[in-house]
Amino acid sequence: MRTRFAPSPTGPLHLGHAYSALLASDMAHAAGGAFLLRIEDIDQSRSRPEWDRQIEADLRWLGLTWPEPVLRQSERLQTYRGALQTLWSRGLLYPCTCRRRDIVEALGAPQEGVPHGPDGLIYPGTCRAETPPSGPLPDGVALRLDMRRALDAAGPAPLTFAETGKAHQEIATNPCDYVEKIGDIAVARKDMSTSYHLSVVLDDAAQGITHVVRGEDLFDATAIHVLLQRLLGLPTPVYHHHRLIRDEHGKRLAKRDDSRAIATYRDEGLGPEDIRRLVDLPELTPPAP
Ligand code: GLU
Ligand code: ZN
Repeated sequence: MRTRFAPSPTGPLHLGHAYSALLASDMAHAAGGAFLLRIEDIDQSRSRPEWDRQIEADLRWLGLTWPEPVLRQSERLQTYRGALQTLWSRGLLYPCTCRRRDIVEALGAPQEGVPHGPDGLIYPGTCRAETPPSGPLPDGVALRLDMRRALDAAGPAPLTFAETGKAHQEIATNPCDYVEKIGDIAVARKDMSTSYHLSVVLDDAAQGITHVVRGEDLFDATAIHVLLQRLLGLPTPVYHHHRLIRDEHGKRLAKRDDSRAIATYRDEGLGPEDIRRLVDLPELTPPAP
């Protein structure tokens, strides 16, 4: 079993991250496997090297180790570009120049009433042409996946994944949902020539991840990941979506919520075992002497 923790270095590690990382590490070690670290720093406008260093230090303080070098997404742009080229050559992508405002307007609804999917607003298809664009893969522009074509290209076999978190079952995605509830997702953004969805499936495959352990907020995005894996010939790992850690008001912890940053707990004198207790993880039994 190979699991991973894949934080974005856009803020301090908080209790929710600690839970996710500890759970992924516990699961790997219980099975005699490996726990790996990946830094998801494709969004250069929000990622900071200070957070990258702080996150690693916090993880080590929690007692976590990873036997392989950290994978940084910012070093893998060539790989992402290669995958975009593959999808482009098969006529599955088209450039999109819409701003968010254009999309909201095209949807013709007030911002609050606009349909959202796991990739944000459900794109109304403004830039999608009847026939796929030809010519070389464009650069410096957002690229969208033509969802209907992508589903055709994926073939008739159902898109499914095994879930061992809350649901614990084989999940069959619904083809209609891809068009109606997800839509033409952006696989590359203008400013970063990749996207979370594209990078995450390529990196899980590159790191040989067999079990993706992550928060249940990403459950709905898994359908996208399974489709991209099929299109790119990548294996689909097992998914384990875990509960989210909430504050005493039931609100999800956010990165800006510094009061629950791991570093704050540490500065207040708590230890790694206290953190495990705070997120209801069992105590680690010390290795036999
Ligand atoms: N980088 C993502 C995040 O910070 C995690 C993605 C994943 O685990 O698939 O939420
Ligand atoms: Zn557009």
